Amino acid sequence: MIDAYVLTAAGKPLEKRSLPDPVAGGGQVVVEVEACGLCHTDLAYASGEVAPKHALPLVLGHEIVGRVVKAGAGCEALVGKRVLIPAVLPCGDCDFCRAGRGNACPKQKMPGNDIDGGFATQLVVPGAPLVPIDDLPASVDPRHLSVVADAVSTAYQAVRRSGLAKGDVAFVVGAGGVGGYAIQVARALGARVIALDVSASKLELIAQHGAEKTVCVDGRAPKDVRKEVHGIAKDWGIPSLRYRIFECSGTPQGQTLAYTLLAQAATMVQAGYCAATVEVRLSNLMAFDATIHGTWGCPVEAYPEVLRLISSGAVVLAPFVEHAPMSRVNEVLDDMKHHRLGRRVVFDPKA
Ligand SMILES: [Zn+2]
Ligand SMILES: [Zn+2]
Repeated sequence: MIDAYVLTAAGKPLEKRSLPDPVAGGGQVVVEVEACGLCHTDLAYASGEVAPKHALPLVLGHEIVGRVVKAGAGCEALVGKRVLIPAVLPCGDCDFCRAGRGNACPKQKMPGNDIDGGFATQLVVPGAPLVPIDDLPASVDPRHLSVVADAVSTAYQAVRRSGLAKGDVAFVVGAGGVGGYAIQVARALGARVIALDVSASKLELIAQHGAEKTVCVDGRAPKDVRKEVHGIAKDWGIPSLRYRIFECSGTPQGQTLAYTLLAQAATMVQAGYCAATVEVRLSNLMAFDATIHGTWGCPVEAYPEVLRLISSGAVVLAPFVEHAPMSRVNEVLDDMKHHRLGRRVVFDPKA
């Protein structure tokens, strides 16, 4: 039997249950979970703000690192390997996957959404998309790599999607979670980065990890902020053609602000999620000849590059991660709901 924390009904605490040992079918493996990160999406599912695709009961958790302990046909070579489980597991064999757009694969599986996730001592996942991580330098705590499965890889893909190049300026709205990593990745790829957030403490932290300028936007009008940050870019001699705007706050205010930062030939990427709608003048896109991309997860092919940035120290995880025993999951969810978490929590499923 395995231990798992199960969502039985929206709005109710997760329930600890003993479940039968998972079995790996053809193309699948059983992974013994070493660490599983907590994402805002887990809170959205637990609270009922968003319904997971799989019917309840469901084991949540999609930022998983662990060791392969059993394998079905075709995946035998993975047994014994430590792996990172991407949050988006594409089928690998459809038009989307073949076009390098596996993160938008219609047949994708997401642990803790389409299938049982990592708030458990073990889970079953498809073997093909897993990313082996045994070769990483000892300086990287493998448990921290769980946040790569979503927060870091999503940030990397958002930056990639924007076409960001050396010498561009990145305006990152929302400097926690995905945004914090978008800042580090953009800096690592040679951009000059301006971080915008409502939290002074988040800005203070990110100023040490890639943000050259920080702008506290709490209570400020988007137009004022626009004037300030465009002014900084102008001082740096960077034309709006090279503006890369990242909406990572997942709030209506952040989305409005990011949109307000658009200018001639600028590019924006929407990486945050909120259920609310915002009102924007879409004609600005026309007038500015500007571009907005959506972004969801990260194609599996991009993970080696993400891991290279981490191995080289260009992107650091430790200052943004804290550990907690899985048994505290309901308290931690409550802390997240009330904005009491300063860092991304990574659970130890055995504690
Ligand atoms: Zn997530
Ligand atoms: Zn596919």
